[in-house]
Amino acid sequence: MSEPKHGARVLVVPCLADNYAYLVVGDRGRAVVVDPSEAAPVERALETAGLELAAVLCTHHHWDHVGGLAELRARRGVLEVYAHAIDAARIDGAVHELGDDEPLCVAGLDFAALHVPGHTLGAVAWFGAGAVFTGDTLFLAGCGRLFEGPAAMMRASLERLAALDGDTRVYCGHEYTVANLRFAATVEPENHAVAARLERALAARASGRATVPATLAEERATNPFLRCDEPEIRRRFAGATLDEVFAEVRAAKDRFK
Ligand code: ZN
Ligand code: FE
Repeated sequence: MSEPKHGARVLVVPCLADNYAYLVVGDRGRAVVVDPSEAAPVERALETAGLELAAVLCTHHHWDHVGGLAELRARRGVLEVYAHAIDAARIDGAVHELGDDEPLCVAGLDFAALHVPGHTLGAVAWFGAGAVFTGDTLFLAGCGRLFEGPAAMMRASLERLAALDGDTRVYCGHEYTVANLRFAATVEPENHAVAARLERALAARASGRATVPATLAEERATNPFLRCDEPEIRRRFAGATLDEVFAEVRAAKDRFK
């Protein structure tokens, strides 16, 4: 796919308790929405910005990412919805099924549907417009729970995302950044980039701002789930494979309060 040099404009749409939907602004007053958890906030954002909805991109089948589809459909009649084939079958209504790395051009925007299984078996990261929309696979400073795949599968998916350009902007499915960085600080107490990022995230939240987007470079520097090969982390799991280290860190996050 051809990646535009300049990134597209992305509007952050808070939904439910801590979900984010995103409007990616394309050409001729059109936008695509990623993960419409709810219809009403998405409709309001479209109206405020004076945008037409061209398509819906789903990162995975969970209700807190596709919950607004029925209402968006009811208002519009026709709605172009895209998801990976494995998760498409689990999303209500007609959904275009895409395979790994399949290109999608809509509203003048080029995306690739990167198949990143682990959280769900049909999870997709939508890569395009200078950004990557990662759903519940890669969070800022964290990653999603292993609901449908083993640790090795999730780690491979995260590694694939981590290999994208460092200046790629990461937009994830939930505002979990502060909690994730608090956990990251327990995994890498010596990592000053983690501490500094936690300060910034706390300041953003205290003033009501979203922490998204981050860059992939920031993620590589601070996200423990992308850093299992760092000596400081590996040392604690002597003799363990990278997949085992990842599984241990993920399990520790599940227990972390
Ligand atoms: Zn999910
Ligand atoms: Fe979610």
